Amino acid sequence: MANMTAEMKAQLMKVTGITDVAEFDKMVKEHVPHIENFDKTFEKHSPFDLQLVMFKEQIESQGTKEFRSLPDVEQKVEHVYKILIKDPDFRDISKLCTPLLKGEKDAEKSKRSRDLGNKNFQKKVHEEALRYYTEAVLLGPIAAGQGKEAALGLGNRSVVLFTLKDYEACLEDIAGALELGYPEDMHYKVYERRGHCQKALGRFEEARSSFQAAVGAMALAKLKEEKRAEVVKELEAALASLKEAEVVNPVAVMTSTDRLRIWSPHKQFPCMSDAVSIKYNADVGRHGIAEQKINPGEVVLIEEPLSWTVNVKSFPTACQGCVRTVGRTAFPSPQHPNAVYCCHSCFAKYRERLGSLDNLSLLEMFGSNSPESTNSALLAFRAIIQQPSKFFVENRSKLFEEYDKEYGTKEEGEWRFEGTETLYRGLFNLVNHMEELTPSKELETVIKSAVLLRFLISGGYFGSSPSSSGILTSEQAFLGRLLTIFQCGINYNQHGIYQAEGVIEAGKKLPIVDVGSAFYPNMVLFNHACCPNTLRINRGRVSYMVAKHTIMPGEEVTDCYGLHHLSTLKEERAPAIQKGFLFTCKCQACEENWPPLHQLEGKLSPADMAKLGTLLSKYQSNFREHRLAEAQSCCVQYLEKLQEMGIRPPHRNYEVASMALSSCFWAELQ
Ligand SMILES: [Zn+2]
Ligand SMILES: [Zn+2]
Repeated sequence: MANMTAEMKAQLMKVTGITDVAEFDKMVKEHVPHIENFDKTFEKHSPFDLQLVMFKEQIESQGTKEFRSLPDVEQKVEHVYKILIKDPDFRDISKLCTPLLKGEKDAEKSKRSRDLGNKNFQKKVHEEALRYYTEAVLLGPIAAGQGKEAALGLGNRSVVLFTLKDYEACLEDIAGALELGYPEDMHYKVYERRGHCQKALGRFEEARSSFQAAVGAMALAKLKEEKRAEVVKELEAALASLKEAEVVNPVAVMTSTDRLRIWSPHKQFPCMSDAVSIKYNADVGRHGIAEQKINPGEVVLIEEPLSWTVNVKSFPTACQGCVRTVGRTAFPSPQHPNAVYCCHSCFAKYRERLGSLDNLSLLEMFGSNSPESTNSALLAFRAIIQQPSKFFVENRSKLFEEYDKEYGTKEEGEWRFEGTETLYRGLFNLVNHMEELTPSKELETVIKSAVLLRFLISGGYFGSSPSSSGILTSEQAFLGRLLTIFQCGINYNQHGIYQAEGVIEAGKKLPIVDVGSAFYPNMVLFNHACCPNTLRINRGRVSYMVAKHTIMPGEEVTDCYGLHHLSTLKEERAPAIQKGFLFTCKCQACEENWPPLHQLEGKLSPADMAKLGTLLSKYQSNFREHRLAEAQSCCVQYLEKLQEMGIRPPHRNYEVASMALSSCFWAELQ
């Protein structure tokens, strides 16, 4: 226990509800005797894991014979729920779920930062002013969705953004300020500013409503007569100016990301390119096959996840909504002291999609800081809460009874893998290895389902008033079953969300860190290879699959689940893949035992060297000057030339060029 920090211990004590330190130490020693180096283990475990040990013990103390003899998941969930409801920690589950992290909220500090922001703004040091206002926004305490200091910080930050002509961002901050309770007597100010932004963006009707709202809000303004008359005059002039302005649609700007899209979408899998198709065979399950030649750098798939989470350690930097790095205009989560959104709209969309049952503290409970750990339970929970219980119950026989491991490969005609019903059917049909669960793992999974079900019940998901009964309705038991199936499926079918942290430099190792995990219904259809022929790049939670080199017709299109031959030796890879994904990898790198990066063959004949010429140095200079399309084109030509020369992976030059190609995409998509 020597290595456990006081902070971790305090967190765990809170989770377990033990207040006495000696008692806590004793409990840890008894229940988890194998924990020697606690802080290392803590990294891999979530705070819930300890709670799980205690819940598990309660079930086991009653004997697990009955649990094991129950014929189906639904009855198992019912059994576990009935026992655990007697435990106050389970009954009052929401108490377990208050933020563990404290954040740094402090109204006084927020006010001080705002003052510094004001000083810098007066001196026209705009970037500094933005920085201080952001500090003020994030330091402002928020309770029951309201926070005056945060709102004032947002209001002031919107003035700077307006001055910088960043109208979209200014509108975000105004919406955020109003959301968090900007003082009513000052509403006229933000309405007026909003009107000016909308006018500048060519949205005249909206601008008119804003100026009119400002006039209306003057009734609440605390102003001397003289000043009031001045403001009213200003607003009248603003409204009059709109009458003269012609109504035009804002010009659509072609952004760089438009270039990176699926130009010819697949008829049945709209987020994939029609250069691939999804097939099934008994040996490898569902998998992707190239229908035509795919060139290096070609985008094969672009997908939004159905469910996603942000790692706790990335709470302060990654937007909970889009999972992109929050820039200079962070919006604080009204729910969790450490969590942020990149803007108010992201927060509003997130709230609309996940509803009132989502609780960021659940991420702290279930999530750990270890990249290899899974967030399956939470991803399953978030998949459920995006739909009302009615959706699952009414579609029970249609979508959630019969398991189809070939789903998507034999559907014909108008069938398309899109829309709620189809995507949830896809989630249900994931490879889930439920038959292979050990008794202990099965019990743990069912306990997690029972806990999440308790959240749903006490949060009012089933409509009725929250019940403390230990008897589940058939509807509730069915949702318990789905939580279990979804958890098991997602356990083997989730992807990390990565972010570039810091500057991406030409020819250097990419500064990529994992910030979350997600379930992508389409991407999971591609199988793993330790030598994948695609690259995966994130733009926040959106994932791009891009051909790493030429893929020939008939070749399998592969993804890598994290264990790559360049970085991990086969001796380590094989058992890790077996343990994590329950299969023996038969990719080319495994069959032929390809060497790691530092031992890769890198020889080229002088004639071949001449053919490749200066492409890579051209890539470097283009990249440095941020001409990413040109830089990317150099990499693509280089890879195509290697292919023409008959050079095949594994080869050092392939890897160097692929990394360069990858850097172009990462730089473009951040
Ligand atoms: Zn966002
Ligand atoms: Zn392999």
